[in-house]
Amino acid sequence: MSTENKLLVHEKIIVKITGLGSSGEGVGKVDGFTVFAHGALPGETVEVELERVKKSYASGHVTAIVEASPDRVEPLCPVYEECGGCQLQHLSYAGQLKAKEQQVRDAMLRIGHLEAVKVMPIIGEEDPWYYRNKMQFPVATEAGTLEIGCYAAATHRVVGVEACRIQKQRNNDIIAAVRRWMEQYEVPAYDEKTGKGVVRHIMGRVGVNTGEVMAVIITAGYDLPHNKELIKMLRDAVPGLKSVVQNINKKQTNIVMGNKTRLLYGKATIKDRLGTLKFNISPQSFFQVNSAQAEKLYNKAVEFAALSGSETVVDCYCGTGTISLYLAKHAQKVYGIELIAPAIEDARGNAEANRCANAEFILGDAAVKMQELTEQGVRPDVVLLDPPRAGCEEKVLAAIAQVKPSRIVYVSCNPASLARDLAYLEQNGYQAVTAQPVDMFPMTHHVECVALMSRVQK
Ligand code: SAH
Repeated sequence: MSTENKLLVHEKIIVKITGLGSSGEGVGKVDGFTVFAHGALPGETVEVELERVKKSYASGHVTAIVEASPDRVEPLCPVYEECGGCQLQHLSYAGQLKAKEQQVRDAMLRIGHLEAVKVMPIIGEEDPWYYRNKMQFPVATEAGTLEIGCYAAATHRVVGVEACRIQKQRNNDIIAAVRRWMEQYEVPAYDEKTGKGVVRHIMGRVGVNTGEVMAVIITAGYDLPHNKELIKMLRDAVPGLKSVVQNINKKQTNIVMGNKTRLLYGKATIKDRLGTLKFNISPQSFFQVNSAQAEKLYNKAVEFAALSGSETVVDCYCGTGTISLYLAKHAQKVYGIELIAPAIEDARGNAEANRCANAEFILGDAAVKMQELTEQGVRPDVVLLDPPRAGCEEKVLAAIAQVKPSRIVYVSCNPASLARDLAYLEQNGYQAVTAQPVDMFPMTHHVECVALMSRVQK
């Protein structure tokens, strides 16, 4: 439908919201023209002040709610409106689950045109609060006040957070102790604009199934004044503290961590378990941030892989090998492919720690390494995919379609790229069977999903 766009910036319009967009905003149509309304929920009628009017859409913030959704709730966090960390605290948890499941269904139909795939009811959290095992908060002085928290949406202004509602309590204990230490000893926060100051970020990592805790102080230089006092204050305030690390990042960059780390107290890594597997976690290691839901997701991936013990599996985009090791227990051989060298080293260490002799990790681009494995005569029965948000490059999918595994299990954090990639595979010998959404990130707009594809027999 061609719609003449007559809307104007700053104009206030009334919109009926029909869905939730990929950033947690409400989406509706006015005379066939798409409007994104920040702060609106599906089922609501709202007044929106337009901030942006483009050729194919307009967007703005809600200025009044004409008709509220029965799922609208009072946000728990006092800084929710300002902080960019959560997007869905104003929607009941049941409402969040419903909306995320719908996003998966919509992506499958509208983007992938995948009519046959069965979208299962989303697997939610028992308790959707205080779930994150990893906290990484910027530190800044804003208008003379020390703030440790999250950036406001789309800015670098730090919104101070006293006790983050989605962080594990131990991470909140770390924030409180570092704040007290910086105030008491007048340790200055780093200033992005001038490059001066000491503390840039603080990070906390919690081994949810072991109780071990790590605190990381990311500084702009080597010098860390009063570090003995910092260690003491952290030890007094944080039960389970096993490791305090300083990471030095001298660069004026958005990348949080630098290359140099210095152990200040305890051990260089903490331990955690997922299912029957154990993992060593260092400041830089990738580890799923929601341990309880990660187990459910990985168990689904194992179920979809339907292994009997005799299969060869390739885990493309394997990261530190968590899914590979889950699968290795049920397969004859698992190959993990990953682009980042330290992740591959972690994966090999994890395989050794778990005595998984049948897991082999290969450093390189999935597209190239998949091809090389084939040339070496490896014929995977099952391929697992867990790519970044952008999804798989077509050459990876093409290489997989050529080796013809009987099943493809696709773990995705973006329903749109998932649907696109499943559609490509449907053109190339596969059928999308099931998609299982799993809520890994309650209160945020992120949607995780695992899908199963089967080879269509010819
Ligand atoms: N499966 C892992 C996490 C995967 S995250 C787990 O559950 O723990 C996606 C990974 O894909 C990242 O580690 C990223 O480094 C890797 N990656 C990105 N592009 C790649 C490519 N072209 N080839 C191989 N790995 C890639």
